[in-house]
Amino acid sequence: MNNFLGNQTLIILVGIGIVLVAFISLFLIELFERKKLERQIKSLENRLRTQRITYETITREQTFRIDELIAEISARGRVIQSVLNLASALGDDKLEKKDMPRKIIEGVNNVINADEIFFFEAIENGKFFELRELISKEKNKYLRTKIKYPLGIGPVGFIGKIRSTMDQEDMEHHSRADAMDYRSKDPYKIDYDICASVHYRDKMFGVIGVRKIKPLTQRVLTPEGEEKIHIIGDKRTALKYSLEALKMVSELGALAMYGAELREQIQRLADTDGLTGIYNKRVFKERLERAIKQAEQSSAYVGLFMMDIDNFKKYNDRHGHPAGDDLLKNLGKILKKVSGNIGLPARYGGEEFVVMLYNKNKAQTLRFGEMVREIIEKTKFENEETQPGGKLTISGGVAVYPIDANNAEDLIKKADDALYHAKSSGKNKVFAYKG
Ligand code: GH3
Ligand code: MG
Ligand code: MG
Repeated sequence: MNNFLGNQTLIILVGIGIVLVAFISLFLIELFERKKLERQIKSLENRLRTQRITYETITREQTFRIDELIAEISARGRVIQSVLNLASALGDDKLEKKDMPRKIIEGVNNVINADEIFFFEAIENGKFFELRELISKEKNKYLRTKIKYPLGIGPVGFIGKIRSTMDQEDMEHHSRADAMDYRSKDPYKIDYDICASVHYRDKMFGVIGVRKIKPLTQRVLTPEGEEKIHIIGDKRTALKYSLEALKMVSELGALAMYGAELREQIQRLADTDGLTGIYNKRVFKERLERAIKQAEQSSAYVGLFMMDIDNFKKYNDRHGHPAGDDLLKNLGKILKKVSGNIGLPARYGGEEFVVMLYNKNKAQTLRFGEMVREIIEKTKFENEETQPGGKLTISGGVAVYPIDANNAEDLIKKADDALYHAKSSGKNKVFAYKG
């Protein structure tokens, strides 16, 4: 029995022992697994953290790169906008041709990043290219030099001859460069990164020269929030890009100058008398009205001298209309010369001429008229010996604002009146209007 009890106790104890060992083992396994899991979690967390940091860095860098691209696009957009602005500025029909070179180089300055921009105007029928406008920190130095390239000499003269847009390298390697030898004869030895000819059809207006070209820039914000100047491309791409931009601006400029020249020609044709080249009646009347308005403000005089050829019909009948035309042309020249900068001459009608004298009183205007009469009397005109008295003469009348009239129309009428009296009292005389 004791033995039985002893065995039972042993069995129980062994059982308990087994259970205990099992528990402890389970506990240890559990502990070990947890630690392992915790370690895995930790390492995962670490990996995630580093990945996040990398990701954030990449995102920031990419954002900055995108910003740079946006900057580049906006810089290019700015250029296109500038070209459009230039086109609209040059298209303004109030802009005179002489003011266009300035507008053109300002346009170049907006599309190219360069230190110096020059406009050389073609003068003497394109024989020379003279510095007309420039943008430079050393403006006075250049202006003092009075730069004027003969056609075919120096880079500017070379481009004027070739009529193209080229950078320095292209010019040097051009097929005609050696034969023209444009560089050795260059008196100025100024290097231009690019030169562009400003011409349209066969009309040469000038050459644009650009020096010290740099890449375009645009302000951008860095990931750290600082403002930074972003440089777009390198010097080589800047040169290539500037060449394209300059081509665009010079073609636009040439077209605008051509248009302005045509406009000015049309205006001249409309304003001047085709035969004598002096102002016509319409323009003269406008000018007279304007002068009287000004004289009203400043209490000045406006003198008017009106003249008519004596017995012109006879001259025409005897020597023909073309000979009469030549005579009218000569009279126009004489009037232009004697009027100089004191009077404004015009052809008022067939064989009638007028001269407006700003701020000349009646005695002075009469003296001027008398002087013109005398000059014409003394001038030897072709075939004048067949005219009455053997010479070509004129009769004239003088009236002065505000003495004889207070408006243009009346002033003309009064001068005409005086002229009529000069005619009726024997011709070859100049009379002042008597009220
Ligand atoms: P008066 O001394 O009174 O002025 O006599 P006149 O013969 O000069 O004047 P009249 O009015 O009888 O004739 C003017 C002439 O001027 C007639 C016309 O043929 C001529 N004439 C007008 N315009 C022109 C022109 O453009 N060319 C030419 N050749 N003659 C012209
Ligand atoms: Mg007449
Ligand atoms: Mg006459």
